[in-house]
Amino acid sequence: MSSDLEKRKQISVRGIADVENVTTLKKYFNRHLHFTLVKDRNIATPRDFFFALAYAVRDNLVSRWIRTQQYYYEKDPKRIYYLSLEYYMGRALQNTMINIGIQSSCDEAMYQVGLDIEDLQEIEEDAGLGNGGLGRLAACFLDSMATLGLAAYGYGIRYEYGIFAQKIRDGEQTEEPDDWLRFGNPWEKARPEYMIPVNFFGRVVDISNGRKWIDTQVVYAMPYDTPIPGYKNNIVNTLRLWSAKSPVEFNLKFFNDGDYIQAVLDRNLAENISRVLYPNDNSFGGKELRLKQEYFMCSATLQDIIRRYRLSAPANCPDARKSLDMLPDKVGIQLNDTHPALAIPELMRILVDIEGLPWEKAWKITTKVCAYTNHTVLPEALERWPVSMFEYLLPRHLEIIYKINYIHLQEIIMKYPGDLDRMRRMSLIEEDGEKRINMAYLSIIGSHAVNGVAFIHSEILKHDLFKDFYELTPEKFQNKTNGITPRRWLLLCNPALSDLIAEKIGEEWITHLDQLKQLKLFASSANFQRSIQNVKQENKYKVAKLFEEQYNIKINPASLFDIQVKRIHEYKRQLLNVLHVITLYNRIKANSQKTFVPRTVIIGGKAAPGYYMAKKIIKLINYISMVINNDPDIGDKLKLIFLENYRVTLAEKIIPSADLSEQISTAGTEASGTGNMKFMLNGALTIGTLDGANVEMAEEVGNKNIFIFGMTVSDVEELKKNGYDASKYYEANPELKLCIDQIQSGYFNKNKPEEFTDVADVLMKWDRFFTLADYDSYIKCQEKVNETYLNQEKWTEMAILNIASSGKFSSDRTIIEYAREIWGVEPTWEKLPHPNETVNQN
Ligand SMILES: *Cc1c(COP(=O)(O)O)cnc(C)c1O
Repeated sequence: MSSDLEKRKQISVRGIADVENVTTLKKYFNRHLHFTLVKDRNIATPRDFFFALAYAVRDNLVSRWIRTQQYYYEKDPKRIYYLSLEYYMGRALQNTMINIGIQSSCDEAMYQVGLDIEDLQEIEEDAGLGNGGLGRLAACFLDSMATLGLAAYGYGIRYEYGIFAQKIRDGEQTEEPDDWLRFGNPWEKARPEYMIPVNFFGRVVDISNGRKWIDTQVVYAMPYDTPIPGYKNNIVNTLRLWSAKSPVEFNLKFFNDGDYIQAVLDRNLAENISRVLYPNDNSFGGKELRLKQEYFMCSATLQDIIRRYRLSAPANCPDARKSLDMLPDKVGIQLNDTHPALAIPELMRILVDIEGLPWEKAWKITTKVCAYTNHTVLPEALERWPVSMFEYLLPRHLEIIYKINYIHLQEIIMKYPGDLDRMRRMSLIEEDGEKRINMAYLSIIGSHAVNGVAFIHSEILKHDLFKDFYELTPEKFQNKTNGITPRRWLLLCNPALSDLIAEKIGEEWITHLDQLKQLKLFASSANFQRSIQNVKQENKYKVAKLFEEQYNIKINPASLFDIQVKRIHEYKRQLLNVLHVITLYNRIKANSQKTFVPRTVIIGGKAAPGYYMAKKIIKLINYISMVINNDPDIGDKLKLIFLENYRVTLAEKIIPSADLSEQISTAGTEASGTGNMKFMLNGALTIGTLDGANVEMAEEVGNKNIFIFGMTVSDVEELKKNGYDASKYYEANPELKLCIDQIQSGYFNKNKPEEFTDVADVLMKWDRFFTLADYDSYIKCQEKVNETYLNQEKWTEMAILNIASSGKFSSDRTIIEYAREIWGVEPTWEKLPHPNETVNQN
């Protein structure tokens, strides 16, 4: 009896199981098993049960979805379009159940039919249509926009293959294709009736009143819609992803030649456009197929936006939307990095070539509609497409970009007469070497707002990367510090912590995360500290169990869990972490009698398949871990684990178990980071540099509750100016020297001693990210971490203060700022009426 009550209380924030809902869910589940999956209980596989449950849950979305869209149609608010080449959604089932408040009912329904809902959830494939932070941000934003009641749409590409699955073989990364649609996708609805043509190639000719793009090759864009439910507000927005479809008449040339078979086979060529996500994070590949993807998405999306704009003409004024003059009042387009920047010349082409608007008027509309978010300052990540590629693929867009540039440069020369160097610097067309189009510059010129994603990053944009443009139009530049959705990154992934928080301060934090500040009152309460410790310890046991079951690795659940999970990149400095691990190893070996704070260091992340050094770093980590984990002198004191195939689902499992979060990029390189926020919200302490959002995290929690080390942005500037000499640090610190020498001389691969010399060479000779310059302060800071960890009372108080100070980092706050300061719309927090005809209907 009391344990029943206990259980009921524990799951309260996920809704109370409702007898009527449970009955209906069971009925829908059984109906789908029978009619949709065509199975009976005896022959159904676990996957059949998953699909039956997913369809039953989806049924509960349908009325809300239709009614939300109907409501937008009637109310005709300004619609917000988020354009992104990436959406890193992860799984949808649990998130949907939580957001529409039927998780407990579903748990109970599955229990009553003899199934474990957690086992079923594990069958769902991640929607891995993203690389890392940028794609996950888009997913968090969709959740927040729906929760805040914005009439928002996500637009992107329905990649047939998402981010590759990472397998570690003999310590090395190998890639396997992510065939995520193999068993079907229960959440998407194809909309073949809204198929849209997209043109490529061809040529441009003069016509009486302008220019015309002719003789093009057409590919169709087929929309697939995914519902995006807001948190308990009965609002369901849409994520519309485009899939490439060959036109019926594709390659008729062959057909006429009589090669019918070849003509049919070649239809695949056009459909390759949406085949696969490019797996580069923070790096520009420059491949033609990628440019096709970008234009394909922009062209289809803009046609759809304009179709919907026209459709929403008020009944009493049917002509109101004949012209596109009102577009800025009814449409806001947010460009997630420059990947969808072709929306700017494409909108110009529609307005000028198709609608016949004068250039100046079209430009005013375009800049009022569009806004651009920059995500990186790394030069190798900035998109600079060769003009030659545009010449044949998008000839009319090239003309339009040239004209935009011509007018832009005229304005520069008017404002800065004679400053030819400024003209050269600010031209959208780079003339040195192969002619290229600078897509960031195009995005700035074509937008009314340009934002960075953390305070320090936005400052760097204004005063460094886009300095000239900031001087020209300072009013455009803004900051919008990134955030994460508290629904997925606390409520869903850490139920025990969610319940503990709800017990103390109620549930308002789920949609108003700043409410977590109320927890500060309990930071030094012995009782609350014990509860927080228990939750963390349980989460660590769970991860230890997962490692043992799935990877056959034994870890010490009493050790400090020190976690760095993110894409593998030199700027993120996994190597600095590695140097610390080797240092600990050497210290234990040299003094095995001494007591050490036991640590489990976990590093995870994917390397871009073509990024040689990132892959080498993974191999080094795996080889070091083989040495350390099998050394009897080390025992339980230190373990190093490389976590295979890090992705959204694994992030949800691992982050709640962290004691220490590693955010150690070179100052000035990580635009914001969002992983840092997930750890803070789940009660980990951060060791980090003053980079990206770490700066604001320190501001929120106070410097004494975060472990900050290393160079600041201005220290890094200074170091660059004076010339960086890694050998200076190497010679000055014997422990550092030993680590480098061990990497260099084959200590971690005795069979092939030269295996990691190239890694040591990078650190000593060509390190663009100054790893050795921060080694000393990092090691000292890690010693402070150990010291603090020995005082569990102190550590737990700091962890509570971190949770309590993480409210700023909700993506709800971020979206409210975009809405008010960029899009000119006001969040409503509106709730639509509950469509009780779905769940309660008989
Ligand atoms: C949040 C997240 C990221 C971004 O992490 P950073 O540490 O900010 O780079 C990358 N991958 C996944 C799966 C995530 O959930």
